Amino acid sequence: MITILNDNFSQLNDFLHQKSFSKIFILVDENTHEYCLPILLGNMETDLGFEILEIEAGEEMKNIQTTNQLWEILTEMQADRKALIINLGGGVVTDMGGFVASTYKRGIQFINIPTTLLSMCDASIGGKTGIDLMHYKNMVGTFAFPEQIFIYPKFLETLPYKELRSGFAEMLKHGLIADKSHWENLIQIHKLDIEAIIPHINVSMNIKNKVVEQDFHEKNIRKTLNFGHTIGHAIESLCLEQGNPLLHGEAVAAGMICEAHLSYLEKLISEEDSTNIIENIQRYYPYLDIADFKDDDIFSLLLNDKKNTDNKVNFSLLSNIGSCLFDHQCHQKNIQKSLTFYRNLN
Ligand code: NAD
Ligand code: ZN
Repeated sequence: MITILNDNFSQLNDFLHQKSFSKIFILVDENTHEYCLPILLGNMETDLGFEILEIEAGEEMKNIQTTNQLWEILTEMQADRKALIINLGGGVVTDMGGFVASTYKRGIQFINIPTTLLSMCDASIGGKTGIDLMHYKNMVGTFAFPEQIFIYPKFLETLPYKELRSGFAEMLKHGLIADKSHWENLIQIHKLDIEAIIPHINVSMNIKNKVVEQDFHEKNIRKTLNFGHTIGHAIESLCLEQGNPLLHGEAVAAGMICEAHLSYLEKLISEEDSTNIIENIQRYYPYLDIADFKDDDIFSLLLNDKKNTDNKVNFSLLSNIGSCLFDHQCHQKNIQKSLTFYRNLN
């Protein structure tokens, strides 16, 4: 269940009072420790007391070493199966905290209190937990639902602009794949700031939640959430390899441009719609220089995507503004054309 918190966090307090947890652990990273924990602690009423678990900030921390440290601390602090973990942070904290909770003693309860736009609209919802392995993202993980997700949009007040813009890409995606009016409302926003974005968070969160509820194990409609992510992930990986890491949403924005054009080349949407989508995405995101990336390197990454089967690349492509189909296999020349199209946008 997803709840938007009041300023006094009354719903969180009700939840903590109703359940009899043996101990509460709050997982934070260094930034959410500084910016979000004081707000949480200023409002949280518990007679139980709590322990803070802190990790360094950043995707590089989402690994088995950090996971192991957290398992060990829980063991040393004698966390039993009635303990609760509160994940207070962005997607790194909610993914890894969910993974730690769902595996420690075969599973203890956890709640997510997301603090980035990306985690409010996307990462904290849907029951996927996990960590990275070597340089592969989310290779090890579980499907596990938090007891509750509590959203407090005011946490975004301290979030850096680039992080806000990264999360906004997922919101645009939600509109494009599922709700034309959401897309149209979002593109009315001229300046990306929290006042403009907050009123729309609810809609995005509900789209993600509804899609997941219909297809928890990603057998069909959940795949539509991958729009922009097939080419987006390849660009994200190549930039990382070159030592120029991108934020996830920046790569997804470029991926959505390529895949909107690809949707047109595959005759799924009109040229007019694809131009409208692309011009609007370009208003928010700078051009990424992918001129040096070889098509072959991009293709081999596309083939490696864990969503594929039978050595075929499965795309989720738009069939309209506000609807999306999945498991679509494209002509290779069209994939190439969509990459060339992006390069020529410069
Ligand atoms: P993140 O957790 O790394 O947070 C981004 C940065 O913002 C970090 O430096 C963090 O410390 C800082 N931060 C967080 N909240 C803040 C606040 N309120 N004020 C100031 N700084 C704050 O990254 P993210 O973008 O939230 O999430 C990315 C992760 O989410 C990736 O690991 C990705 O794989 C995962 N993800 C998971 C799912 C899923 O379904 N499980 C979906 C999408 C993404
Ligand atoms: Zn994403």
